[in-house]
Amino acid sequence: MPNPVTIQDVKVILTQPGKSRLCIVKVITSEPGLYGLGCATFTQRIFAVAAAIERHLRPFLLGRDVDRIEEIWNMSMVHGYWRNGPVLNNAISGVDQALWDIKGKRAGMSVCDLLGGKSRQAAHVYVHADGRDKQEVAENARAFMEQGYRFIRVQMGGYGGQGSPMVKPRQAPAGAYFDPRHYCRQMLDMIAYVREEVGEAIELLHDVHERLAPIHAVEFAKDVERFKLFFLEDALAPEDIAWFRHIRRQCATPLAMGELFNNPHEWQLLIQERLIDFIRMHISQMGGITPARNVAIFADMYGIRTAWHGPSDTSPVGHAANLQLDLWHPNFGVQEWYRPSELDYEIFPGLPVVEEGYLYPNCKPGLGIDINESLAAKYPCQEIVEQWTQTRLPDGSPARP
Ligand code: MG
Repeated sequence: MPNPVTIQDVKVILTQPGKSRLCIVKVITSEPGLYGLGCATFTQRIFAVAAAIERHLRPFLLGRDVDRIEEIWNMSMVHGYWRNGPVLNNAISGVDQALWDIKGKRAGMSVCDLLGGKSRQAAHVYVHADGRDKQEVAENARAFMEQGYRFIRVQMGGYGGQGSPMVKPRQAPAGAYFDPRHYCRQMLDMIAYVREEVGEAIELLHDVHERLAPIHAVEFAKDVERFKLFFLEDALAPEDIAWFRHIRRQCATPLAMGELFNNPHEWQLLIQERLIDFIRMHISQMGGITPARNVAIFADMYGIRTAWHGPSDTSPVGHAANLQLDLWHPNFGVQEWYRPSELDYEIFPGLPVVEEGYLYPNCKPGLGIDINESLAAKYPCQEIVEQWTQTRLPDGSPARP
């Protein structure tokens, strides 16, 4: 038996080429020149993840056999005794994705091939069309259609409900205010208008961003049913998932859920009771490719498709991981896509490209993506206090963003 290839170092790379702070893990092996990359991006708590990797995971991982992905994932998850939290899950994901990348490079195969091979050549993506009013949303949606996109998420005024004529109490604190009832009225009007403008052949999606009281989410899901969305995203908050039963009993609006999930208990029941149609975890937030693979297979048994979370606060390495999963599992639905900048493509050679609404992989082994570390270092993470997550209801009380 040849000596195993082992983990020689675990390095954290923090960079901010755009608005999101990104955390990349580089696992360096005992084989000269062989390393893997993984996404550990929890942008709002980026320095906590970096410390979890450097101070806790790195010492635990040094010298371990890179081939034993299952053992390393499971032991990393229980090693801290308390588990399933976003900081640790992201830290574990960085290592997990890097180990899949290394295994692919050693085998000369893509991660998709390691998982079982392609079900498709490329992945449908959806993009995000915003606008200050419904006319602008429709214009932006049409511009995407001209570029070949067939799945478009329509939002208005960010995630909506902002800028309504709300009356705040005297000395109300600053914040990102929104009015949930105004949001419902505005969005129904906007979606009706955009559907009329773009026709039936384009798939429209909408994200409620967990901004409604549960009973209003039920009402909204019913009201929006007639516009035949491809899916309605995050109609409810993770804390309110028992309410999905009420939506399900009352309408056939397709439902997507999961980007905030950390713990298997959050998705198990939704899948087993067939309460949603698309499962869409943030792969780094759930702990990496290993648990995502398990959930994809589990969801397939219940006729539920995937739509992994893919905004700009997933790193390009995370997007490459999403795509490897998308290409492989039979129950793929659609992939959220953030349209990277030229700088993203320079820092991350191999970042997948879209043509005619399809996201294509390259032919490289592993995740097929690399990082230009010296260029990444020119864009350090800023020390900021996040503003958009300081959301408030009209009376000033804190709300879910
Ligand atoms: Mg969302």
